Amino acid sequence: MALHVVMLGPPASGKGTQAVRLAQSCGIPKISTGDILREAAQSGTELGLRAKALMDRGELLGDTEMIGIVKERLARKDAANGYILDGFPRTVRQAEELDRMLHSEPLVIDLAVPDGELLTRMQTRRVCSGCAAIAEPGLSREACERCGGTMITRADDSDEQVRQHRLDVYGRESKPLLDYYRGRPTFRSINGAQAPDQVAKELAAQIEQMVTVTSRKRS
Ligand code: AMP
Repeated sequence: MALHVVMLGPPASGKGTQAVRLAQSCGIPKISTGDILREAAQSGTELGLRAKALMDRGELLGDTEMIGIVKERLARKDAANGYILDGFPRTVRQAEELDRMLHSEPLVIDLAVPDGELLTRMQTRRVCSGCAAIAEPGLSREACERCGGTMITRADDSDEQVRQHRLDVYGRESKPLLDYYRGRPTFRSINGAQAPDQVAKELAAQIEQMVTVTSRKRS
């Protein structure tokens, strides 16, 4: 059975870090819309340049365009056995469209972290300019542990107003997603303020539990 997981949570809640770990342990791809857009920006495509202007201000791309990008990505061969979505959906319209694409309910994990902690994390976060890996506490913040690339501060993490604005946009556009998913047996919220290893442990346990519940329902 293909595994379709959605990682929800505000900026710097740890979605990306946890999505990588889970994807590795499940042998399926992590699909990050932020990474797709940053790659497009680096390649200097028309979409990339438009996306960069919005990302640097902490604004979201339009739903129609984002849905098109994700549809194309999910149709690729490597996504046939499932995927971990990081950064999509970010609006209720995107979530409705994902339900239609899947013909079933994805497993949804919300990482809850207080705003003060998120602002500190955004301010201190370092990512690889080459492969987009995120530096975890205790790992090198100069050279990427994965590819040796240079660790940098993301453009949208470097400005105080943009950091705050992204939290405001999250509250307005993405928090309603919690109400959209909350009533489902395929939704779990985890305390994302814990150490990454503890979050990963709880996340794996919750996914396993949801898989059991949904496969029982099917049989
Ligand atoms: P992230 O790396 O997930 O924090 O995303 C970085 C930026 O990419 C966001 O602040 C948005 O500007 C844009 N972005 C990523 N995913 C989406 C999405 N699903 N819908 C709209 N904009 C997005």
